[in-house]
Amino acid sequence: MTAEKYKHIFEPLDLGFTTLENRVLMGSMHIGLEEEKDGFRKMGHYFAERAIGGAGLMVTGGVAPDFWGWLKPLGAKLTNRREVRKHKIMTDIVHEVNGKLCLQILHAGRYGYHPTCVSASRLKSPISPFTPLPLPNWGVERTIKNFVRCAKLARESGYDGIEIMGSEGYLLNQFIVKRTNKRTDKWGGSYENRIRFPLEIVRQTREAVGKDFIIIFRLSMLDLVEDGSTWEEVVLLAKELEKAGVTIINTGIGWHEARVPTIATLVPRGAFAWVTKKLKEEVSVPLITSNRINMPGIAEEILASGQADMVSMARPFLADPHIIKKAREGREDEINTCIACNQACLDHVFKNKRASCLVNPRACYETEVIAKKSASPKKVLVVGAGPAGLAFATTAAECGHQVSLWDKDSEIGGQFNMAKQIPGKEEFHETIRYFNSQIRIYNISLKLGVEATVENIKAEGFDQVILATGVRPRELKLEGIGHPNVLSYLDVLKHHKPVGESVAIIGAGGIAFDMVEFLCEPHEEPSKEEYFKTWGIDANHETVGGLLKSAKKDTVKHKIVMMQRSEGRLGKNLGKTTGWIHRAQAKRNQVEFLSEVSYQKIDSSGALHISVKGTERVLKVDTIIVCAGQLSNRGLEQGLQSVGIAVKVIGGADVAAELDAKAAIDQGTRLAIEI
Ligand code: FAD
Ligand code: NAP
Ligand code: SF4
Repeated sequence: MTAEKYKHIFEPLDLGFTTLENRVLMGSMHIGLEEEKDGFRKMGHYFAERAIGGAGLMVTGGVAPDFWGWLKPLGAKLTNRREVRKHKIMTDIVHEVNGKLCLQILHAGRYGYHPTCVSASRLKSPISPFTPLPLPNWGVERTIKNFVRCAKLARESGYDGIEIMGSEGYLLNQFIVKRTNKRTDKWGGSYENRIRFPLEIVRQTREAVGKDFIIIFRLSMLDLVEDGSTWEEVVLLAKELEKAGVTIINTGIGWHEARVPTIATLVPRGAFAWVTKKLKEEVSVPLITSNRINMPGIAEEILASGQADMVSMARPFLADPHIIKKAREGREDEINTCIACNQACLDHVFKNKRASCLVNPRACYETEVIAKKSASPKKVLVVGAGPAGLAFATTAAECGHQVSLWDKDSEIGGQFNMAKQIPGKEEFHETIRYFNSQIRIYNISLKLGVEATVENIKAEGFDQVILATGVRPRELKLEGIGHPNVLSYLDVLKHHKPVGESVAIIGAGGIAFDMVEFLCEPHEEPSKEEYFKTWGIDANHETVGGLLKSAKKDTVKHKIVMMQRSEGRLGKNLGKTTGWIHRAQAKRNQVEFLSEVSYQKIDSSGALHISVKGTERVLKVDTIIVCAGQLSNRGLEQGLQSVGIAVKVIGGADVAAELDAKAAIDQGTRLAIEI
């Protein structure tokens, strides 16, 4: 029945010299293990687990063909035989489980975070502090040779193929478009000249590696930057790539410097499959589509409607290495879905930290964080079914402990029940669905609507109690704070109290920005058309780079002022790769940002008196919403200790400052493995 339901996913793909078991590619992700000691062995196990979990083909994170192409100093590269030995450790582990792995060759060009970065022309990118040196003619020739050398070394290392990174604004892309290629030699000027560089790389690589080696080319089909490629140019390049000998073309969407979100959670699932479909009419090599394909249902839909020959899922394999196996076995309910938050994957990589996953902290720690069966199973009570308690309870049960889970609410999820209501955060529903399935599978005794007290805990005789009781909103000591116009974020998001037209938000953290979206954005399922309109994406790709003017809002639902006491930009502590999206959304909703605010009082009319950088101001608003952070809710701890009950505190109940779901789930998982 399942095979029928996902029949397009599980249809093998014959590449002539090799056959892929199914139509799912695990897309390239740099995870930070590439540069760590013993990283290749760890990566071997990381990929092997995903091969077992159903990835038909996998691609490594980007590896540079020479040091000019490094993403950062001492980044991963493959340039000599000594490095082959390290790569072979990984490919051997992958082949033991019959996995198929391609090496991605990525030359960062002007995105290289080092002073020796190079590009087509001397033009600094808006997202890098380094101005690149333009490659001289001999430098271009040398780079082609280095790509070819890298591909040959990849073959020696045991890879099943390579992916040549030609999208996302990296070096090859920088040569392809006028935006970054101002050359007047044979590598610049006409389109034919600008695509000579990637085509030479493919042609010479094919010659060097032979016919029976996969060559994927990641082609930027929609640049989403000014002066990017036209659709006609994309088609021409794809046709030439086919002639030059690529096995598969993969879809690249948007340059890293594009001001359009392309993978964040607000992007509708499968939003870009149409681009690949458009190219399918022009070439005959298999095409892979990508971006926000995070569940088997959407993958099947795309394949069944003929939009692509394969789908790429990258982050979904971090969230659940067994996603495809679970689909095959009809266990979709058990899939730990990627919520596209970027918090533990991309944000980590941009901070030079090893990647992992918010919903699966074991990702990239396959050899280190292991849920082994406990030799001495305990009877454990977990109080609080928020992210921390859920992670602890399900992991402890997996380790063989007898687990009870209590929550005073009528549903599991804790604060995720508020997060899931924010427009653009609908994926948070999936995490709650996943945990519900784990509770069922591991026979966790779940009691909802039960407020834990020292007495009712004591009465049950547990060996260990875990307090995962979360946080409570910080209450402000401010004259007039009891005025009926003043609401906490809980009042709005949990108790759905009405909010007036004009609003002052105290605090400018993640919840304050989410509040803006809750108040101002439509609550229906996000439609692709609306998303394209909002962010200026030309869904017909008739414009250069596929860019249109983003739609401005004529009217906003609420007139909002957002404030913080500290100086600097509001929202500066939001996620590294997603914070700009929240700030852009707030601007679109005409939110007024105030920093260096001192709150003075709320008068009897409900107006908020403040001083901004020393200047007095009165905000006559209908509603004041307090989003001023939280305090730990660990009131039960002392009482339990005083009656001799062993207790450990996790999540927000442990540390409220700097808490997020990533920290809560990580702490819960790791502690459950240790007890
Ligand atoms: P909580 O989620 O607060 O759960 C605590 C649970 O304990 C609750 O269910 C409560 O009912 C229960 N409880 C308390 N006392 C008792 C008792 N005595 N007996 C029984 N049960 C009890 N984080 C991110 O990382 N990314 C985001 O995008 C994000 N977005 C958010 C959006 C919003 C609107 C909100 C409100 C939060 C968001 N967060 C986000 C924060 C994240 O949800 C929290 O960090 C996380 O939920 C904390 O987990 P926790 O398990 O420690 O506590
Ligand atoms: P937060 O990010 O810590 O922000 C708290 C805000 O309140 C700050 O802007 C702070 O600014 C202000 N504040 C603190 N103490 C105050 C006081 N005594 N009086 C007035 N203002 C005060 O907390 P949050 O917004 O409540 O979010 C909670 C957690 O959830 C955070 O860790 C956050 O990362 C996470 N979250 C993440 C996302 C996401 O999209 N990734 C979304 C929502 C929540 P000043 O001190 O400058 O005034
Ligand atoms: Fe997906 Fe977030 Fe996990 Fe990254 S951290 S893989 S975006 S759920």
